[in-house]
Amino acid sequence: MKFLSAERIADFFAALATSFELRLPVMLPDGTRSIGTLEDGPIALQGGALDSKPTAVFFPQQEVVFTARDGEVPDTPLPARPLLVVGLTRCDLDCLRFIDRFFAGGWRDDLYFRQRENAVIVAVSGYCGAGGSLLPLAAGNCDLELVWDGSCWLVVPYSESGGSIADSIADSTGSGALQRIRTESLFHIDEGDAIIRRASELLRANRVPDSFWEEIGDRCIACTGCNLVCPTCTCFGVQDWRYRNVVERSRMWDSCQLAGFMREASGHNPMGSEALRSRRRIHHKLAADPERWGEISCYLCGRCDAVCPTGIGIVAVSQELVARFE
Ligand code: SF4
Ligand code: SF4
Repeated sequence: MKFLSAERIADFFAALATSFELRLPVMLPDGTRSIGTLEDGPIALQGGALDSKPTAVFFPQQEVVFTARDGEVPDTPLPARPLLVVGLTRCDLDCLRFIDRFFAGGWRDDLYFRQRENAVIVAVSGYCGAGGSLLPLAAGNCDLELVWDGSCWLVVPYSESGGSIADSIADSTGSGALQRIRTESLFHIDEGDAIIRRASELLRANRVPDSFWEEIGDRCIACTGCNLVCPTCTCFGVQDWRYRNVVERSRMWDSCQLAGFMREASGHNPMGSEALRSRRRIHHKLAADPERWGEISCYLCGRCDAVCPTGIGIVAVSQELVARFE
């Protein structure tokens, strides 16, 4: 196993940036931690899950699908260098695994896989959560893991590309506490896990009345924050812009909390109230996705509960739901 001291981490990433399109946690000027480039701000590996949606690296908020000139659509070149994405937690990796399935299911989203296919994923774990708390080991689902043991980063490879990166670290010495972190990770329990599973059962058994969603809907101010940060939210809209002989098609994230989310051209809206839209946001992840994909599509990253200004993130709603209807 290789080791990296905190002092050597900047040089380590600077070297990787010569071979990869590097995206890693940085501190933005507004004080939030987000995935960016070395030029965007100081490296910020410590502090837990990033504030922003980590899967945006492969599914950005807005992107051009194609640009046509005189009706001709040229082939889009593949990226010159693979992405190396650092900073995903164990929950984030589960989210990424889920949207990999989603974007490959039935049809294959070439826009997504253009970036995702050859990307190298580096997880972070160990005592680098908020206030030095434990981020459980990912132990797979990624190419390489950086585990903070409280004094240095332990570098744990899982794939060939991860192994090459670890091999590039010279003069590496340390002792590390991987076994202790591994054991603590095994016993790490997210209390939200039991709650959302119980909420999922209630929803699938149709035991939650519409009046509950009226109450939740009344508390939603449609700020869309929950969708913007959720790593497994994948809804998008498409729009075309035309200027003379050029047409540009782009896609951008949509939010199931907005009135226009499902509104049809006729004006009919099958999700015409905030109550229906709030129900859909929770029901989709806890009831519809388990039926479609065989798993709940919330991996408890904590972002929607942290960002919702009115306290109706998925765990908060699940807690209320279980307390009232179980
Ligand atoms: S906790 Fe919220 S933001 Fe995170 S995966 Fe679940 S629904 Fe999405
Ligand atoms: S973050 Fe909360 S208030 Fe904002 S749209 Fe989502 S549920 Fe509604």
